[in-house]
Amino acid sequence: MQGLLIEPASLPCACEALRTEVRAFLAEAMKDVPPDRRNRNWSGASPAFSRALGARGWIGMTWPKRYGGHERSSLERYVVLEELLAAGAPVGAHWVADRQSAPLLMRFAPETLAPRIVPGIARGEVYFCIGLSEPDAGSDLASIRTRAVRTDRGWVINGRKVWTSGAHRAQFMIALVRSGEKTADRHGGLSQFLIGMDAPGLTVRPILNQLGEHDFNEVTFDDVLVPHEHLIGREGEGWQQVGAELAFERSGPERYLSSTQLLLEMLDAADADDPRQAEAIGRLVAQYGTLRQMSLGVAGMLSRGGDPAPALALTAALVKDQGALVEQAMPDIAHALFGGRARPGSPLAQAMRHATLSVPSFSLRGGTREILRGIIAKGLDLR
Ligand SMILES: Cc1cc2nc3c(=O)[nH]c(=O)nc-3n(C[C@H](O)[C@H](O)[C@H](O)COP(=O)(O)OP(=O)(O)OC[C@H]3O[C@@H](n4cnc5c(N)ncnc54)[C@H](O)[C@@H]3O)c2cc1C
Repeated sequence: MQGLLIEPASLPCACEALRTEVRAFLAEAMKDVPPDRRNRNWSGASPAFSRALGARGWIGMTWPKRYGGHERSSLERYVVLEELLAAGAPVGAHWVADRQSAPLLMRFAPETLAPRIVPGIARGEVYFCIGLSEPDAGSDLASIRTRAVRTDRGWVINGRKVWTSGAHRAQFMIALVRSGEKTADRHGGLSQFLIGMDAPGLTVRPILNQLGEHDFNEVTFDDVLVPHEHLIGREGEGWQQVGAELAFERSGPERYLSSTQLLLEMLDAADADDPRQAEAIGRLVAQYGTLRQMSLGVAGMLSRGGDPAPALALTAALVKDQGALVEQAMPDIAHALFGGRARPGSPLAQAMRHATLSVPSFSLRGGTREILRGIIAKGLDLR
């Protein structure tokens, strides 16, 4: 492999003007949101907030205008995302649709489908969930058993998905299911479908996470009928499409900015004269700086266009893996520095509790640590 994996990117001046605009909006929109709600970061959801962002043109920022997008650059989008994440804004309702479902639909769905659905996503009104994982298929998606069978009326789907984030508020799912037999490379015979969450035979049941919150779900399909035109892309090529989609999923700043509230609380509580605190928090801030440069570099790659799929997959996996490592270390650092002194119920104690219970999931969601390192090794020609 030659040259730098991730070229450093810098933000043009227009981005800083946009940042000021976003900060002013957030100061007003978030003024009554208590710190504990900000801990939820991008898993917190508010349809009203999503619609307000849509009205400002801050969803679908890079998409063509004919899909309701705003034709702005990936770097401008990056600035909006990092400001939203740093503020702990409740962006969870539209997040998946903005990040990965709409790009997938615009690229692979039949011409009739994307223009009907994507503009609603850009307005902050249409939400998506992703149906990949099943009880016996997580890292190994080739083991998926949910099956689609083609009939004259459409595709009939039967099976079960688990850990489906946001299925209880989404209008649509994009599901990866088996539509044919396994091929020699194990990943053939899988296809992606657009499924309306109100389809007869589809049931959503909550699964509470270890914070006791309802984010993900079990979704079952009992003879769910899906129109022929809801097959996304080519039959049997779902695996390749999911690869491209997951690269988008892994490359954003949310992969290191999920626990910003804890960092802010630590900075607030820190004693400038305590060298132990200065060293530990300084180290964290330096790591954030490095991660930001890496993640911004990925946004720079996207803004230069072309088909960045293999390079994007590798660099996105690097950012997500390193981001999870830094965020997973934070609760222990906070406990070591402030554990005995954080007043119960204080914003610092709440942020520590929230991070302690949520960070273990950061190296599971969106691809586990071992899977990401496999992708990195492959990208570096090491296996
Ligand atoms: C907060 C959260 C939100 C999620 N949201 C969604 C969602 O919206 N949609 C969805 O479809 N899924 C979702 N998931 C599920 C997530 O994608 C899976 O948990 C993940 O892919 C791992 O699958 P698994 O849980 O079956 O674990 P497994 O794949 O069984 O992995 C268990 C352990 O074995 C290791 N392992 C597995 N295979 C290998 C290998 N080949 N080599 C080395 N080690 C290996 C893994 O790294 C892991 O440590 C979510 C998960 C979380 C935690």
